[in-house]
Amino acid sequence: MHVTRRFVLARTAALISVSALPLLPQRGWAVTTMTAGDLRIDSLSDGHLEFPPEFAFSIIPEGERDELLASLKIDPLAMVHSSLNVTLLRQGDHIVLFDVGSGPDFMPTAGKLAEALSLIDVSPEDVTDVIFTHGHPDHLWGLLDEFDEPLFPKAALKMGKVEFSYWTDPSTMDTISEERQSFAAGAMRRLTAIGDRMEQFDDDVEILPGIRAVLTPGHTPGHMSFAVGTPQEGIFVTGDFVTSLTGFARPDLGTATDHDPELAAQTRASMLARLADEDWQIIGYHLPDSGIGRVRRKGPAFSFESEI
Ligand SMILES: [Zn+2]
Repeated sequence: MHVTRRFVLARTAALISVSALPLLPQRGWAVTTMTAGDLRIDSLSDGHLEFPPEFAFSIIPEGERDELLASLKIDPLAMVHSSLNVTLLRQGDHIVLFDVGSGPDFMPTAGKLAEALSLIDVSPEDVTDVIFTHGHPDHLWGLLDEFDEPLFPKAALKMGKVEFSYWTDPSTMDTISEERQSFAAGAMRRLTAIGDRMEQFDDDVEILPGIRAVLTPGHTPGHMSFAVGTPQEGIFVTGDFVTSLTGFARPDLGTATDHDPELAAQTRASMLARLADEDWQIIGYHLPDSGIGRVRRKGPAFSFESEI
């Protein structure tokens, strides 16, 4: 059976209208919608990334790999498909995107955000604010379209100060690992193209009403996450301080995509503890399905309880 994206969305809309449980997310092909208080949150799919398993699991010590992956029901030999969940928040007059996806130049399986936006009748011109978690390609490169024009022409663009400085520093090209040099060149090109439109913010400031920046470094030097609202009525946008189920089971291990694996592991362990204890609903950029769920303590570590 061939199911079109729009058909799935229409069915989802019907479900929402009869839903008596506003906090229960509803899944469409590319869009999952939930509400919390006066917030409306959509998890939009930018497509997915594909990694060979030997890259994705390289950081797990060989002697522990099979058992850990089996416990998470992950096939150690299959290509890893990593979700790309862009968060759209509608609150009052603001239409806020957290990150902008990969754009047309990163991977053929990614760069679908504009399609996902059209499914909910939001055009890129409608977006009032874009808040970045970090400068990696799958989060930043969607800033320009295939003609190198800014895709969100009316949005106020915001990135953490440390992160912006890192990617706009010409010496980053010399200090970044060789396999990430294309990341540095790509970030520099895009951040230069938008000129002084990028506003910079510090840790622990309220960027917009109800949206607080939380510095979560290690994945990249100035990586930011965002607490939106409260644990009772809100969502925590994690970005990439945790990117896979293995990160919950073994937060102490770095991941293949962390710039500073040791610092990333410290951040991951402390943030997962906070999110579990405060019982936040989270959206994880690379977590399965829509990335919406909760962090649970499990023995000395954690697990991800998907809610769609
Ligand atoms: Zn990412």
